[in-house]
Amino acid sequence: MNINELLRLSETLDAKGLIEKSYHLFKPKIISSTSFGITSGVIIDLICKLNLPIEIVYVNTGFFFKETLEYIEILKNFYKNANFVEVKASENKEIFLKKFGYDIFKKDPDFCCRERKVKPFYDYIRKKDIRAWISGIRKEQTDFRRTLNRIEILDSGLVKIYPLLNWTSKDVYNYMKDNNIPFHPLYEKGYTSIGCEPCTELPDFYDERSGRWKGLCKKECGLHLEIK
Ligand code: SF4
Repeated sequence: MNINELLRLSETLDAKGLIEKSYHLFKPKIISSTSFGITSGVIIDLICKLNLPIEIVYVNTGFFFKETLEYIEILKNFYKNANFVEVKASENKEIFLKKFGYDIFKKDPDFCCRERKVKPFYDYIRKKDIRAWISGIRKEQTDFRRTLNRIEILDSGLVKIYPLLNWTSKDVYNYMKDNNIPFHPLYEKGYTSIGCEPCTELPDFYDERSGRWKGLCKKECGLHLEIK
């Protein structure tokens, strides 16, 4: 198996198959990421059912909802074989806010996301010399995500794998129900996409990510915008 074969197979493999083949091609230099959002359980479940030792990396920005912190513990208990890795911004949240302002997420959310999320994540990727990254993003979430293929190779050579790219929110919901995956505690309060607390509100009913950075044209934290 080489990358060209994986690219060819990526058209037909199901989500589980794509994760498994990718793992065997890139191990041990492959990770997955999670935001512990509403739909995060699916990728975690697939990796754990395959029993693969893939690190499931999350960036703790310091601005999580308390319910997200609870959810992390719920999933850690639920998936005892999951290899969760927490990555943090190098600067303590209080120092960061004091330095850049307590309204930094309103004043300059791109800067805040870059410092608190994107940089720590890519620093981790570089430090560990990661070659492939599995992410659960889906086409229907944003216009940018609609432009992606199930496998993308960044200019840096990093290979991004999107097993759920063509799944709808209904597919995700059904999978979570059918597999008894715990839901994020804020799901029952009407949230359909969860990020940091200061930048997440209840969504408009027609758009699952409309509660994120509400009132701004920003739709992505930037993690997935590094040259698609
Ligand atoms: S989502 Fe908001 S609080 Fe979180 S890193 Fe981005 S701007 Fe900062």
